[in-house]
Amino acid sequence: MFEGVGLHTGEPARVVVHPSDAGALWVQKGQTRIPVRWDYVVDTRRATVLGGEGITLSTVEHLLSACWGLRIGSAVIEVVQGTEVPALDGSALPFLQAFEAAGIVPCPHAPCFVVAQRWIVQQGESVASMMPGTETAFAYIQFPAPLGVQAGVFGLRDYATEIAPARTFGFLHEVEALRQQGLAKGGSLENALLIDQNGYYNSARFADEPLRHKVLDALGDLMLCGACPVGFHLTLIKAGHTLHRELARLLMSECNRMEAHDGGMAPGY
Ligand SMILES: [Zn+2]
Repeated sequence: MFEGVGLHTGEPARVVVHPSDAGALWVQKGQTRIPVRWDYVVDTRRATVLGGEGITLSTVEHLLSACWGLRIGSAVIEVVQGTEVPALDGSALPFLQAFEAAGIVPCPHAPCFVVAQRWIVQQGESVASMMPGTETAFAYIQFPAPLGVQAGVFGLRDYATEIAPARTFGFLHEVEALRQQGLAKGGSLENALLIDQNGYYNSARFADEPLRHKVLDALGDLMLCGACPVGFHLTLIKAGHTLHRELARLLMSECNRMEAHDGGMAPGY
């Protein structure tokens, strides 16, 4: 069970992740279920929001990123309270650690599929692409000073130590405007890396923590293809949730052609 405050709503949020052998990820509230899939995404402005059938679950990407890290492609995410996944520390690490503590290990039979061709989506200067590879990611972000440009290549086999701990980030000067839009209400120094005119306001976990968080977000959003993509090289240039969702849509078209494998989370969780 994950409990805390929602990053954007600022309201108490509680979700429980249940093992499932359904071969897919679902969001459930009461008796109603919706699939964790790109065509159930209702908003991508600041976070990935799933919705439909009277269910809304916002900011799913960090939880889903931890699912990618452990190849959890089959589970039910039950919404117990609120409409948002709790922010916890703003990264995917608490989700990953809880799954690991529950005895979940990457499952060789999880519904994964190996990326077999190149996919690219582009919007203005933003690019997100995937091609067959050895689980690596190149990311590039560009913001006004002091954040500026960050770029790097990451080996995703080190996801747990190099990517999962990277927290969501925000700009101090934007906080007020976001709150007026009803966003970032739960954001704090406990669950976000804040950036002011001098640089990082609180201490960063990595010198390029925002860049790594972009990779974290993308891996979570790519789970919206309906399976766990593996065997790829990912490229992210100024990309965000909207482009990630588009890439997930293309991946699903490839995934649908691949043979699905049975399997899921380890029992006893
Ligand atoms: Zn994020």
